[in-house]
Amino acid sequence: MNEKKREYYRSLLNEQLKELMEEASKTLSDMTITEGEFADPADRATWESDRNFLLRIRERERKLITKIREALERIEEGTFGICERCEEPISDKRLEARPVTTLCIKCKQEQEDLEKRGIQ
Ligand SMILES: [Zn+2]
Repeated sequence: MNEKKREYYRSLLNEQLKELMEEASKTLSDMTITEGEFADPADRATWESDRNFLLRIRERERKLITKIREALERIEEGTFGICERCEEPISDKRLEARPVTTLCIKCKQEQEDLEKRGIQ
């Protein structure tokens, strides 16, 4: 992968990371604001289910943030865009759509097939 491409994916990942961090801090402040006194128990139940929903989203965000950080590390190490299974380059098309991926499309499919059959 040449420097120009590395720079492109680096800024793509940094942009995604920034958005996620902003989203995560917004979610957190929403939760703090909503917490308080509930005159009606139904309000409290709604708030609790909203809160669980937000926590689940945050869990997903947190995982994605980790993946993005790892991808940025791989860019620095020079292993970004290389499939960790077969060590072949991952296609640009796939990287564009999902820059945090560590598997080429072929290995990803093989992995999913194995998962479906319950082997992995
Ligand atoms: Zn592969």
